[in-house]
Amino acid sequence: MKKTLILLFSLCSVVTVMAQRTILHCGTLIDGVSDKPRQQMTVIIEGKKISAVQPGYATPAAGDKVIDLKNQTVMPGWMDMHVHLEAETNKNAYTEKFTQNPADLAYQSVRYAERTLMTGFTTVRDLGGTGVNIALRNAINKGLIVGPRVFTAGKSIATTGGHADPTNGFSRALMGDPGPEAGVANGPDECRKAVRQAYKNGSDLIKITATGGVLSVAKDGSSPQFTDEELAAIVSTAKDYNFKVAAHAHGTEGIKRAIRAGVNSIEHGTLMDEEAMNLAIKHGTWYVPTITAGRSVADSARIPGYYPDIVKPKAEAIGPQIQVTFGKAWKKGVKIAFGTDAGVYMHGSNWLEFVYMVEAGMPAMDAIKSATIKAAELLGMESQLGSVEAGKIADFTAVDGDPLKDIQAMGKVSFVMKDGLIFKQGTANLASVKN
Ligand SMILES: [Zn+2]
Repeated sequence: MKKTLILLFSLCSVVTVMAQRTILHCGTLIDGVSDKPRQQMTVIIEGKKISAVQPGYATPAAGDKVIDLKNQTVMPGWMDMHVHLEAETNKNAYTEKFTQNPADLAYQSVRYAERTLMTGFTTVRDLGGTGVNIALRNAINKGLIVGPRVFTAGKSIATTGGHADPTNGFSRALMGDPGPEAGVANGPDECRKAVRQAYKNGSDLIKITATGGVLSVAKDGSSPQFTDEELAAIVSTAKDYNFKVAAHAHGTEGIKRAIRAGVNSIEHGTLMDEEAMNLAIKHGTWYVPTITAGRSVADSARIPGYYPDIVKPKAEAIGPQIQVTFGKAWKKGVKIAFGTDAGVYMHGSNWLEFVYMVEAGMPAMDAIKSATIKAAELLGMESQLGSVEAGKIADFTAVDGDPLKDIQAMGKVSFVMKDGLIFKQGTANLASVKN
């Protein structure tokens, strides 16, 4: 009897959930596809998906939940194609490697993931951590914690001593000789193994460090770190597993090698010259600029003692150049997808990238598209994400004000929906509330 009642009750609640529609009355709608915003629009959501988009404010039927966004600008949920959710910059970051356990990273990543979602980013690519980011993705997908939809690279693949070798800068007694299981690979065979290990670990994509980097404890921030043969092995193995490849690259030679090898995106691309831009256009390679990180590391380098002595000059030299390169690449016609390198600066300030993109000459509408439909294309998810169209997943970010007139409005997020569930409405954080 008790069992029957429970069954009846749960059936009833399933029926109620199925029937309830959510109606968004949008003052201004930027749909991610059209170049023109539309005024006074209605979006109807059933379950996780958008079922209709229509002009005017539709009259709700009995049982519909109506959300008044008449004073807001409503957009597809924003997508940041370059974040690191496990950690966040701080003056102790270099010693934390020796004191933190994976559980410490896990707890802090919960905070960073929630902050990312609440500031309007409903989807992210996590481009490298220890592998805790895989468990983080799983916990978000299970609904155990609140965060954006995560596509994670797990651990970045590096060469010995390269950017993302996890024991870089350690004493000889501690550094050991990490191999493909730890994301360190030398020669085509190990590169293939590292990709297969990423598959086994549950990564969604491959991240490689094609050149030196700013924050690693190593002298060089821009020279190439993989040979053509190694890059070819990574890209061809990645294709076997349906993985896309994101390549961190600051220096020109490393950028060109990665593009020629067939990676899907160049991250940072700081010293990209005209030849590299033309190559990217020819190969259809995406550019993910991360201007915010560049500016942030240049700022932090001015704080005495913030970075080790070997890192500081790299941060000063490389950091400020990204915005200039982005401006040139955009004018030239390189495909741009929005990415910020959050974690290198404070999580939750990702929206500043919009401001810097507009500052460098990109129209606000294109900056918004780079974080919606263009990012979805980079992920290969454009049939499900990145625009407000019937049949797509119901992810929305709304802001107060008009970002096409004043891009600073992107910092005033007042509504966030992911998978048809409301996480933020006005000043209310609904993260713990079951919708
Ligand atoms: Zn990064």
